Amino acid sequence: MEEKESSAIAWLLEVSSVSSNKYMDIEAPQLGCKKIIGSNSPDFLEKIREDFPDIHKVAKRNFKNLAVSFSGGKDSLVVLDLAERVGIKKAVFSNTTIEFDQTVDYVEFLNDFYSLNIDIVTPPRNFFELVEDLGFPSRRFRWCCEVIKFGPLAKYARENNIDGFITGLRKEESTRRKGYQKIDYNPVVPVPQINPILDWSESDVWNYIKTYKLPYNPLYDYFDRIGCWCCPYRTKKEWEKMKAIIPDKIKKLEDRLQKYAEKLGIGDKEKFIYQYGWTAWTPPLKKITSGVFYSIKNSSSESIEIIFLGDSESQINKIKNLLWILTDDYEVIGEGYHKKIRINLDGHPRKKIKILIEKALNCIKCGACTALCERNALYLVDNGISVNRKLCTHCLKCLNTGSKSSIRGACIARNYLRSRNTLNQLIK
Ligand code: SF4
Ligand code: SF4
Ligand code: SF4
Repeated sequence: MEEKESSAIAWLLEVSSVSSNKYMDIEAPQLGCKKIIGSNSPDFLEKIREDFPDIHKVAKRNFKNLAVSFSGGKDSLVVLDLAERVGIKKAVFSNTTIEFDQTVDYVEFLNDFYSLNIDIVTPPRNFFELVEDLGFPSRRFRWCCEVIKFGPLAKYARENNIDGFITGLRKEESTRRKGYQKIDYNPVVPVPQINPILDWSESDVWNYIKTYKLPYNPLYDYFDRIGCWCCPYRTKKEWEKMKAIIPDKIKKLEDRLQKYAEKLGIGDKEKFIYQYGWTAWTPPLKKITSGVFYSIKNSSSESIEIIFLGDSESQINKIKNLLWILTDDYEVIGEGYHKKIRINLDGHPRKKIKILIEKALNCIKCGACTALCERNALYLVDNGISVNRKLCTHCLKCLNTGSKSSIRGACIARNYLRSRNTLNQLIK
């Protein structure tokens, strides 16, 4: 134990001397460091002494290719700094497309400050395009984190062979985070999360920033929380501040909310838009029958035959894109608009084929499930989602729902789309 501690202290001294050479004289005039609170708490050095070796050990021994998941906030600035000191140069910023412009500029600034090249990932469609299909997210209807924040990170991890993300998550931030571990898992990110400052307090974070004179995001001079500017979790006070700081964006949001309210027939627009009723709202969901299916059984197998209401050709094409996941044994019967499809279930329960078909018919190209396939077999095409036959191993994880699913209902559209296409069973 003593040996462990003395090596930790030696290492601390080493990194401290690096820090005094490298950072102490640096000022960040354009960022303005107003937010320096308190003096170093008595246990502050103790925390650094514990947590620096943690990240160091984890980085060196357990993982080969770590990256910092940088959010633009103060907590991830601290871990970016810690990681940089132990030689971890890879970092990624998930630009949700509703970041403050200042945060995007700040990421650029940090590239120069640390001589890094922070990678930036974005979702396949931007937030307001997705809102057209899904509606505005709210505290009770939260589709966005999986799609615009974690989906692109998951894809980045796969494509860059990242085996762990270092995050700035802290227990103090929420009740849910109190249960987090230093090495933990997020169901919508395929690699472990390393949370070296999980036990730090907010004061610890600010004291670290003060001690090493780190340039924090200038938005902290106005807000306690950075991140998506039109997040439904923002407080009324924050909305009022934003009206002064980013009036054009707020006006654009109000115009979009106005159209959204009209589309949905919301009467009290004042309450919905200007008193932020939308942030805690759930839209009514509607199921649209786009076809009926019936079962054809014989002694050894079961098939289903689907008859479509409306354009059968385009619906069958969408289903064919994905069907390989379950079976290649199907037959398209009839001509043109009146085509139907007969699918051999190959022993799969009917529920699986229904989920697959609903994914195919409803896909809004959000990209969330494509990021989670371990084989990178799912990809977006003009008419929705498709599977690469050479890569898919038929693991069926992309059709899991309930507790086994990474995405609720196996698909964002299937779960959140206001008007969802479905099939009804016809009993013959
Ligand atoms: S808007 Fe809020 S809830 Fe949605 S992704 Fe951004 S931070 Fe998460
Ligand atoms: S199938 Fe569903 S989760 Fe996958 S990209 Fe389409 S809408 Fe998103
Ligand atoms: S999750 Fe499994 S079944 Fe789905 S596409 Fe990927 S490999 Fe195929």
